[in-house]
Amino acid sequence: MLSSSSPWVLGIDLGTTNTAAVGFGAGQKNPVSILHGRNQPVIPSVVSLKNPMMPLVGWLAKDMLLTDPLTTIFGWKRFIGRSERSEYVSRYRDRFPFQIHADPGGELGAVVNGQVYSFSRIAAVVLDQVRLQASAALQCDVRDCVITVPAHFANHQRKAVMDAGAQAGLRVLRLINEPTAAALAFGMDQRLETRVLIFDLGGGTFDATVLELTDNIFDVMATRGDGFLGGIDFDRAVQNKLVEHCRSRHGVDPAQDKVVMQRLLSAAENAKVALTGAERHTVHVPMLGHDRRGRPFDLEMTIDREELEQLTAHLVERTLGIVEEMFSTAALTPRDIEHVIMVGGMSRMPLVRRRLQELMGKPPLTHLDPETAIAHGAALVARGEGDLAGMVLLDVLSVPVGLVFPGGRTEFVFETNTRLPARRRVNLPDPQEGRDMVVGVWQGPDITSSERQVLGVVRVPTPLMGSASPRVLEFHMGEGMELNVAFVSPTHRVPLTVEPPARG
Ligand code: AMP
Repeated sequence: MLSSSSPWVLGIDLGTTNTAAVGFGAGQKNPVSILHGRNQPVIPSVVSLKNPMMPLVGWLAKDMLLTDPLTTIFGWKRFIGRSERSEYVSRYRDRFPFQIHADPGGELGAVVNGQVYSFSRIAAVVLDQVRLQASAALQCDVRDCVITVPAHFANHQRKAVMDAGAQAGLRVLRLINEPTAAALAFGMDQRLETRVLIFDLGGGTFDATVLELTDNIFDVMATRGDGFLGGIDFDRAVQNKLVEHCRSRHGVDPAQDKVVMQRLLSAAENAKVALTGAERHTVHVPMLGHDRRGRPFDLEMTIDREELEQLTAHLVERTLGIVEEMFSTAALTPRDIEHVIMVGGMSRMPLVRRRLQELMGKPPLTHLDPETAIAHGAALVARGEGDLAGMVLLDVLSVPVGLVFPGGRTEFVFETNTRLPARRRVNLPDPQEGRDMVVGVWQGPDITSSERQVLGVVRVPTPLMGSASPRVLEFHMGEGMELNVAFVSPTHRVPLTVEPPARG
């Protein structure tokens, strides 16, 4: 492991759309935002592999999206650590201009010139850029960091982010959940006694989390999210409208041309952002194509805020549905929440604010910067060497973990919202004569879901089981979701391993 003597540590919010980084120096009172460009405290999480030997990252890469969409990789966070047979992957892969496939090791990635670049490698390119920019800005070699991940990320997704950090030469002290980081930015050192809802709507993912803050204890009570709900879905809704306009006004169907579709998507995002501040916006995309008579045309179309709201209301309602589901699983109501904190760039949209305010019966707090609050919270943890220096962080499991026994019986060992760390015991079925028992461990909403991921298998040797009764497996899940298992009988306790699955 790398050791770092730098007086600076980093909090990194590795977002679907943008990445923010905040540095904290030894003896400094306030953290500083590191990444800047085009008047924003972030860089786009975009990598251009036009020349794979010299990838471009950030704003320059985002510019390449318009001209080279097949080699410009964005939105990768939606896929990192997922399996190729995931229903999400089959449903969404066609919406990206670049091809998505598993590499020979079974890890999903983008295909550029016939070669698969795994998404953890793409993430590493972004993180490497963050490290370089931070080191240049702070004039020292900065490597220690805390990286945030969505609360709904399962083990494989977390592991892929850890791997990416290591590939980028960073020393990842720990991962923390994005909403928890936002709560830390909100409540650290304030000795509050309050219950907050963190509503985190970013570019590609959504998380709703309730935390109870008591003194310096940050207790996650419930969390729920969707890895495929974010700003890009709003952009696509507007893009569809622009496509319709091209068809009806110019008699041209742009859907087959990936470059044109990318230009429309970018214009759609600009319109969406502009309509946060303005009531009307005119989309203008010069020289978009040729009409039926072969004449070049510009796309020009005015869209107002009300229309945007009609086009995207179903997405906003989906976020509220997730909040309500989370409330009901945790037996909470909006009245139990004192403060509503919105983070993620997409939470700036007036409709999102209005509808959440209606649901919660109180206005959201807006004093945290939605773009850097999460990185700020992560930097506070990094400052404590990954410890919370006086803070107690009580987190819960967002995606349940289950077992499958020989014969096919399944059961959950850790349910959603289980407080971590946690210990659970399960009784093993009777062993088959002379055979080791193999118990599968998986994570997902249920065993039949295509989102289920195999965490590994536990092999219980025959001699160990002998005539012991009862035969028990004890599972322990740590704060960082690391899983340990032991065989327990009335006479002995033997640690076993969770053997990782063969990939593919
Ligand atoms: P994040 O992942 O938190 O950086 O959020 C990025 C998303 O927020 C993108 O979809 C942006 O288009 C969106 N976004 C940023 N600023 C605004 C704004 N002022 N109004 C609406 N959406 C915005």
